[in-house]
Amino acid sequence: MRIGYGWDSHEFKRGIPLRIGGVTLPYPKGLGGHSDGDVLLHAITDALLGAMAGPDIGSLFPPSDPQWKGADSAVFLREALKRVAQAGYAVVNLDSTLILLAPKIGPHAAAIRASVCALMDLSPDCVGIKAKTPEGMGTDNAAIAHVAVLLEKVQKKAPARRKTAK
Ligand SMILES: [Zn+2]
Repeated sequence: MRIGYGWDSHEFKRGIPLRIGGVTLPYPKGLGGHSDGDVLLHAITDALLGAMAGPDIGSLFPPSDPQWKGADSAVFLREALKRVAQAGYAVVNLDSTLILLAPKIGPHAAAIRASVCALMDLSPDCVGIKAKTPEGMGTDNAAIAHVAVLLEKVQKKAPARRKTAK
């Protein structure tokens, strides 16, 4: 078993789409910065990479590289999942906490969960999507994501048993 932890934050900017967990949420502001600014997919990607003790998302996909500007963050997640599979591991479950003042995540939590499940080939009971407001933190213009993942070694198929001669 391996555990991974990821954290990310992005600042809200007016006039760009808000992407969280691969879902576009109706809101006049989106998250700026690296790629499409999907704070949740970035934190999941970093949790997976961290569980493999691998390079982090910023090393694999440098924000300074123009090819990642506006990129779909699912690309990063797929690369992390590929590395997990190559190392012989599979995701058991993940849990996440989003911290943002607005919009309210509750009405969108099911859609976000479904999107993450589809991207990661997980069942809904293996993906925790929680949200809190940043009370007293002074981060009202940012979205923050914390993610923990658990991985298990994939069981190799036992070799077929030879029939014993009678
Ligand atoms: Zn990010």
